[in-house]
Amino acid sequence: IKKEADVVIIGSGGAGMSAAVEAIDSGASVIVIDKQSAVGGNTLLAGSALNASDPERQKQQTMSEAELKTIENILAVEPKNDTMKAWHDTLKKEIDEYKASGANYLFDSPSLHKLQTYIDGDFVAEAEKVDILGENGPEAIKFLEGLGAKWIEQIQAAVGATWKRSHTPTTDLGTQGASFVLPQANYAKDNGADIMLDSKAEELIMTDGRCTGVKGTATDGQPFEITAKKGVIIATGGFGANVEMRQKYNKHWATLDESVDTTNGPFATGDGIVMADAAGANLVDMEWIQLIPTYGPGVFTPYIENQFYINKEGNRFVHEDGRRDELSKAVLEQTDAQLYIISDANTVKDGMTTTGRNVDERVGNGYAWKADTIEELAEMIGVPVENLQASVDQFNNSIRTGNDPFGRTVFDKEFGEGPFYAGLTGPMVHHTMGGIQVTTKCEVLDTNGNIIPGLFAAGEVTGGVHGANRLGGNAITDVIVFGRIAGQNVVK
Ligand code: ADP
Repeated sequence: IKKEADVVIIGSGGAGMSAAVEAIDSGASVIVIDKQSAVGGNTLLAGSALNASDPERQKQQTMSEAELKTIENILAVEPKNDTMKAWHDTLKKEIDEYKASGANYLFDSPSLHKLQTYIDGDFVAEAEKVDILGENGPEAIKFLEGLGAKWIEQIQAAVGATWKRSHTPTTDLGTQGASFVLPQANYAKDNGADIMLDSKAEELIMTDGRCTGVKGTATDGQPFEITAKKGVIIATGGFGANVEMRQKYNKHWATLDESVDTTNGPFATGDGIVMADAAGANLVDMEWIQLIPTYGPGVFTPYIENQFYINKEGNRFVHEDGRRDELSKAVLEQTDAQLYIISDANTVKDGMTTTGRNVDERVGNGYAWKADTIEELAEMIGVPVENLQASVDQFNNSIRTGNDPFGRTVFDKEFGEGPFYAGLTGPMVHHTMGGIQVTTKCEVLDTNGNIIPGLFAAGEVTGGVHGANRLGGNAITDVIVFGRIAGQNVVK
């Protein structure tokens, strides 16, 4: 098969489909290819949330003294460069005004989002990328709303988000992840994009140093070759499901061999990274691989505020609102490297989570338990009841006093009304922070720092946006914001 279009996009996840919308809106003809038989990628699988400051919604919620202290701690971090200094100065001014006004609503701003992203990524990310991410988050919300996405009212904190700015889609479009990619996919289809499924890209076509198309093979064995008149966008996601690549680049975990499960679909094999590498692209931050300790069949919701974690002895062991790398490391030190996530009626009502998942369907699957009392729950999961009760008491006391022994500051309501739930899980490979190096316009850079003409990349396939650790809920912001930027620039 031979085809031609202005723009060829490899990968139909959130990044690829956001790019498609922008390229179409600029009047370009677009072909999207995906090796799977359905669109969506890991974005569709995401049980997840979109982080963006959204004062209008956040002002409906209150902020505790402990949360205000978190902001002060952030302001106490010495700026590393001028970009960070600018965020810092803006936030300082905003917080001074906030305090002077005597308000107690949940504060947020792009500056706070940027600082948290950069600090919690250990300053490994490129500050300019973090700036774009935080600045364009609010616009990403509007973009998705404009294409039909809707959110539940409460702004929550996804695991590892470290702040309540995670937007949860309603389940109108099916899974939660659906709202982050199907609105764009439907728009692209309705506006003439050619979406070629079951088509695996294998090689970038390079002509005199310029990327002019893509070659590959369809699932039925047919080879294809697509010429891109303006450019190719790589949006193939990460390599979380590629054990060999994980092992090759991992420096920070004892092992990432096949004994470590992944939350990713089997298609997340890093193909775009390998193809770009072969075309001379530079790769950055490849060693940073994210494990998440709170996924799997026993987990009801990706949010933390109304849940706490215990080990197999029934004791809390970590501040649940911490970074994903900290949480994963803490869990790896516990018995069997597992944890129980404990929930009550604040998370699950009438068998449904606040995010619209049917929990009762999961109970009894070997990973999830439900009980009317704390005693009964402790017995079911085999932990000493006095320890579980002490953990409940500790959680509530931390809310009342604002002083948690593990330093947790993100809470919502006190724990107490049953039924009670426990979910058993452990760390799994979730996201690869490293990948192709790109400019702030998503142009791919080669190993000499020069732009490779005609070649763009966006989403998890790129590196430099998150640094050493990605905040929970920032991946969706990344794919929408940078997918759009790639789609706008490829046609220029
Ligand atoms: P992102 O979150 O960065 O948008 P996703 O994981 O959501 O990434 O989507 C990536 C998509 O790319 C998946 O649907 C996957 O099937 C597709 N993909 C990965 N490798 C290839 C390839 N070699 N050819 C075509 N599609 C690919």
